[in-house]
Amino acid sequence: MNHGLATDRRPDEAADTRPPGGFDLAVRSAVAVHGVRVSAPVQRRSGAGPSDDGHVVVAGRGLALPIVPTSPYSIDAGRLLFAGTDLGVEATPVRRPRFYDLTTADGVPYSRLARLHSADVLATTVLQTCVRYREPDRCRFCAIEESLRADATTRLKTPEQLAEVARAAVTLDGVRQMVMTTGSTAGPDRGAKLLADCVRAVVAAVPGLPVQVQCEPPEDLAVLGELRAAGASTIGIHIESLDDEVRRRWTPGKATVSLAEYERAWAEAVRVFGWNRVSTYLLVGLGEDPQELVEGARRLISLGVYPFVVPFRPLAGTLAARDGAQAPDPELVSDVTARVAAALAAAGMRGADQGAGCAACGACSALPQAGG
Ligand code: SF4
Repeated sequence: MNHGLATDRRPDEAADTRPPGGFDLAVRSAVAVHGVRVSAPVQRRSGAGPSDDGHVVVAGRGLALPIVPTSPYSIDAGRLLFAGTDLGVEATPVRRPRFYDLTTADGVPYSRLARLHSADVLATTVLQTCVRYREPDRCRFCAIEESLRADATTRLKTPEQLAEVARAAVTLDGVRQMVMTTGSTAGPDRGAKLLADCVRAVVAAVPGLPVQVQCEPPEDLAVLGELRAAGASTIGIHIESLDDEVRRRWTPGKATVSLAEYERAWAEAVRVFGWNRVSTYLLVGLGEDPQELVEGARRLISLGVYPFVVPFRPLAGTLAARDGAQAPDPELVSDVTARVAAALAAAGMRGADQGAGCAACGACSALPQAGG
């Protein structure tokens, strides 16, 4: 069912009526959708999951925001502005990390192997291709192979390369956690074994560095134990929507893995990694009924899984952008985020407690702003 929640407005329209009001959840949701005008040295284009954003620190919190030259929000001289008016909030772009200037012994720039996310997260896509990337299977919001096509990254990162980059990023730039995602493979582990090899190498090189792995539910759930044993401290198993019709429309390939299989994987992951050490993305704006989305998030919380609520954005290179899909209304983002944050607070579940991963970083979600 399509509940038509995505607004007809362009992301750069309609924010002009919002009065300046500090940096509350409404403003956080507005900048998540409308973006900011800023010159940000730390950016990423394409790639897996939400991308095409600039990394900034606003009111002391790392945020990944769309860079939109026509947005009424801007960052200038250390402040967040709305239509040129100072909102009274400190805001600065994340500085370019030093590790971007290094190159591996075999001649690969570190910046092609891993990127800085937010102010202190090292992120990499171990395998930059996905078995589901060809239409009609491809997720409509995903651009994982576009950065490969643009020659901004390598197809497969080796454990040795990632260990080298992680060591430098921690030493030179104060990185505090690492996120490793992967495109899905055709194998029954869906790419998890590659992740395990890379985690092992990174943790050996930087003992104590919290690392999150992200993959589809593997057919053999014992692989989750291998990831934990390799040294991963948290795991993201991302479903994006709990609504089967939305899943078939937005993630047709992944939707062949049933919700029941996701639930089995989450349960096993919670058993292996622990309560609030497992997360999933829930995208706001795919057309799911907001009440059902919030109820689904509550069910996840009761399983010990952190629902990382993120506004959908039509990124360059995605099928969604090609087909003219629009970002959700900021008010919808705000409403869903506030209700999920309240459920998280009631359960005592904080993203920051995960230590590694998107929930711990929080830059792509307004949940931290709402107390989640
Ligand atoms: S929330 Fe995840 S994808 Fe977003 S900036 Fe942080 S680590 Fe990167």
